[in-house]
Amino acid sequence: MPRGSHYGRARKRPYTCEYYRLSAIVFKPLLTAKLGRYTITHDHLSEQHKHFELIEIAKKTKVAEFNINNRTLQVALIQDHSSASNKLYITCPCCQSKRQHLLRLRMLIACREYLGLHYATQAERPRDRLMRKIRKKRKSIWGADCPEVNNLFAHSQYWSKPKGIHWKTFYKAKDELHQLERRYWPMVELHFQSQFGHFKNNLAITVNNCDDFSL
Ligand SMILES: [Zn+2]
Repeated sequence: MPRGSHYGRARKRPYTCEYYRLSAIVFKPLLTAKLGRYTITHDHLSEQHKHFELIEIAKKTKVAEFNINNRTLQVALIQDHSSASNKLYITCPCCQSKRQHLLRLRMLIACREYLGLHYATQAERPRDRLMRKIRKKRKSIWGADCPEVNNLFAHSQYWSKPKGIHWKTFYKAKDELHQLERRYWPMVELHFQSQFGHFKNNLAITVNNCDDFSL
């Protein structure tokens, strides 16, 4: 396997943080709002994603109807009356499942399962595994009592050869360790990007009917 292949593969995986989320909570005011056309005030949404019509279907279920790329996408607002908080769910226009969040793509609004995406946190597992592997390898070379053995910010590159180990063995082990560490940092970077990157989740809905769109 060529070096860095993990890096390339990891980067190609689509993450939900790369898309804007529509949260059920921002739709809550619509439960008591009049039917009609509404606008979501959010700079990052395209015109097609900003506008929707609030309609009512069977059993007084309210539905936000978007028209994106000449396709009608219906997001139903479903309140769970069995919970004390009357939690609100929004349905995925593609698979109809009840969700807390939907993701907005250029041509679509859908849930993450439908889009086959992975949360960035799911990438933590291989990252944590790799971290454990690095620590184990370090301990096998320098021993568990080495002061910085668990600190991955401390580079092991210049750590000296312990007594009683052959140079050849030492270099081989260090090379293996170095390869593990090279794979580790891109994963960390990706994690930080997903945590503190361009993630947007603060959407506001203008509850008042917009004059331009009133029926
Ligand atoms: Zn779905």
